[in-house]
Amino acid sequence: MQLLDGKVLSLQIKQELAAEVAEIKSNNGKIPHLVAILVGTAGRSETYVASKMKSCEEVGMHSTLIRFDDSVSEEELIHAVRDVNENPDMDGLIVQLPLPAHISADKVMETIDPKKDVDGFHPINIGRMAKGLPAYISATPQGILEILKRYNIETAGKHCVVVGRSQIVGLPMSILMQRNTYPGNCTVTMTHSRTQNLAEICRSADILIAALGRPEFITGDMVKEGAVVIDVGLERVPDASKKSGFALKGDVKFDEVAPKTSYITPVPGGVGLMTICSLMQNTLKAARGEVYY
Ligand code: NAP
Repeated sequence: MQLLDGKVLSLQIKQELAAEVAEIKSNNGKIPHLVAILVGTAGRSETYVASKMKSCEEVGMHSTLIRFDDSVSEEELIHAVRDVNENPDMDGLIVQLPLPAHISADKVMETIDPKKDVDGFHPINIGRMAKGLPAYISATPQGILEILKRYNIETAGKHCVVVGRSQIVGLPMSILMQRNTYPGNCTVTMTHSRTQNLAEICRSADILIAALGRPEFITGDMVKEGAVVIDVGLERVPDASKKSGFALKGDVKFDEVAPKTSYITPVPGGVGLMTICSLMQNTLKAARGEVYY
């Protein structure tokens, strides 16, 4: 078993990004600028956004955080998105999800200029991605592709099982893994909470991508010997032995599953770190006009 080490890869990618930004600076070019809109202070969104902003600064990119109270109206939020769309200094925009129940996340996402949609959530980017056209690919799936690429994992002809069909992870992942490119060319099975015989389907996977948000759901008996296992799950579970009172768990029961695999991502230290890198890579592309030209 080899660990797919998100820490090592994310450090490498940050170094590459820092070098590219330094080169842009030395040529007096446009410094990539990521804007995040954060509504409220509840949940883990604040921590996620803070680490995105910090990572931008680490590689020399500009970042701006626009905050709103939970009481912000949909109209005000949409107005803020339009302001960023029209600001030529701002290259990439993310609106941290989830949003309060009185705001339609779909409506807000559709207001983002697809050219600045570095999270890749706009229907135009999802559609372009599905067609294989240049597009912003959502950050977590893109991070997973990067892991597969950087570890030279063979994907062509393999059976890839994706567990979970969310718009931000499972759905794009299943589309990406069947594309006629590398990583890709898999035979993909997309599964979800209504899937029957899930364990049997998972056991037939050469590449198993677990993105369901159920801590340690994938157990040793659900995984084939030699499989590649990508664990997207990231949930807090109570743990009295930790100072914080909780531990971060993935969707895979690591101790049972890891010995059976050829490659596996740990949690934490796997996919999560790559997600932030993808966001910065997309912001660099946005500043360079590489996706939409
Ligand atoms: P989500 O929107 O809640 O979707 C979960 C998916 O899993 C749904 O499609 C659901 O099926 C399916 N599912 C739930 N229980 C299942 C079961 N027992 N058997 C089979 N499928 C089941 O979740 P998400 O946003 O994709 O997130 C999934 C996990 O990834 C979470 O732990 C989240 O924190 C983590 N995550 C991590 C990163 C990162 O950067 N590391 C990024 C994003 C998400 P239905 O559609 O039928 O309900």
